[in-house]
Amino acid sequence: RELAGDPERGSRPRQVEGAAWSHVQPTPVPAPHVVAWSSEMAATLGLSAQDIQGADFARVFGGNALLDGMQPWASNYGGHQFGVWAGQLGDGRAISLGEALDAGGRRWELQLKGAGPTPYSRGADGRAVLRSSIREFLCSEAMHHLGIPTTRALCLLETGEAVVRDMFYDGHPREEPGAIVCRVAPSFIRFGHFELPYARNDIALLRQLADFSIQRDFPQLRGQGEALYADWFGEVCERTARLMAQWMRVGFVHGVMNTDNMSILGLTIDYGPYGWIDDYDPQWTPNTTDAVRRRYRFGQQPNVAWWNLTRLASALSPLFADVAPLQAGLDRYVSAWEAADRATAAAKLGLAQAGDEELALRDGLHAWMRESQADMTLTWRALIDLDPAAPSPNALAGVCYDEARRIAAEPMLRDWLERYASRLRNDPLPVAERRRHMQQANPKYVLRNYLAQEAIDRAEQGDYALVHELLDVMRHPCDEQPGRERFARKRPDWAKQHAGCSMLSCSS
Ligand code: AMP
Ligand code: MG
Ligand code: MG
Repeated sequence: RELAGDPERGSRPRQVEGAAWSHVQPTPVPAPHVVAWSSEMAATLGLSAQDIQGADFARVFGGNALLDGMQPWASNYGGHQFGVWAGQLGDGRAISLGEALDAGGRRWELQLKGAGPTPYSRGADGRAVLRSSIREFLCSEAMHHLGIPTTRALCLLETGEAVVRDMFYDGHPREEPGAIVCRVAPSFIRFGHFELPYARNDIALLRQLADFSIQRDFPQLRGQGEALYADWFGEVCERTARLMAQWMRVGFVHGVMNTDNMSILGLTIDYGPYGWIDDYDPQWTPNTTDAVRRRYRFGQQPNVAWWNLTRLASALSPLFADVAPLQAGLDRYVSAWEAADRATAAAKLGLAQAGDEELALRDGLHAWMRESQADMTLTWRALIDLDPAAPSPNALAGVCYDEARRIAAEPMLRDWLERYASRLRNDPLPVAERRRHMQQANPKYVLRNYLAQEAIDRAEQGDYALVHELLDVMRHPCDEQPGRERFARKRPDWAKQHAGCSMLSCSS
């Protein structure tokens, strides 16, 4: 069914009360065409390359046509932005087309990001630019292949329409190519979905939404009434804790952990001004909007997630007679975080298990990385080849960004390597198994900010080769990929100053 650009389509900006979503039609674009897609996600949905390259596909996934049965909607959520309640927020530019069942009976919601305004757009255009869409497309799939829970991306389209943005490079508006990503997940429900009816004292809607989320997304949970809600909240807390341990494992910084960007399923959601740690620095944030307070800095993420869960706990409090079950859920966050952090430390260090001593050992390496400005990904990867019988700092010679600091911190490294090697010599893990654990826990290829930027610069010139190649490299982040070493190098000097590679702003 073709869609015309109908001004009465119901996207007039407004407060939507008493409902968790609104019917809304995508706004057609001039010339939608697919420029990249995930073959894994396509296969899961039973789509062939031919399907995706066909004209019908571009019309539907560009928002110009609907398939029979599609009844698009935008969902209604609020959230705490940078610690402050912000009221109704979204979704201002994501329109869901419907749900698909895969061959295994799993349900996937198909959502177009950048498909035009919705009632929640608050005066913005509902569009997304190519630059941020490439970043979302590549990073969703990269995270998936790293084994990290995330929303997925089926495809990336250019719309043939220019979108105007105030760029942070020089403060002047600039026309950029428009794009749409079709993202895919079992559910896009966020903490903010529950916070909004709570803030409006709409307890009936809050309860309905909680019941819906439990039934649809947590069918394994048994019980009823308060006990079921308590179990559900505890499960959300544990999933969130495990997600934080995964982000910390690979050096991913989300950049804007507002409660509207927290998934009830514990998925990484809303790829905006995210970044990857190059030189290890727990204070680093990629988000220009947060450059002063650094609320969402790398090292703070597990604490922020906990705070966000306390907001969710408040929002759910009307479902409980007293706060004890919610407190118990938050306690489950703490124990799940501690367990996940230990498991991560053990795997990264290649040890059978990690107790307090091993955590201290890990922290010692972090301290050296900070001191010597060492690249996080390269440092961990280099440890795989360390010889416990003769640990040499040479193994880590090439990983630092500052030669003077490397030299100054060398005694620290020697000392650490001695401690680590002696711990390795006393560890029961067989060498082959140790290597396997370390290789899986310490990826070689991550979507470094400057790599994504190179792909964006070329795509804006019409050349998608690097987008496709990065998508392919990130399929096997932990494998050696001969001939592709250039994707596993330190950030080059030019990228440190380049705005697109180091700092990004919130919504684009
Ligand atoms: P974010 O900071 O990306 O989480 O965005 C916060 C809210 O603003 C979300 O609900 C977005 O849907 C909305 N938003 C961001 N960019 C746009 C846009 N260009 N048009 C409409 N809504 C937007
Ligand atoms: Mg968001
Ligand atoms: Mg966003």
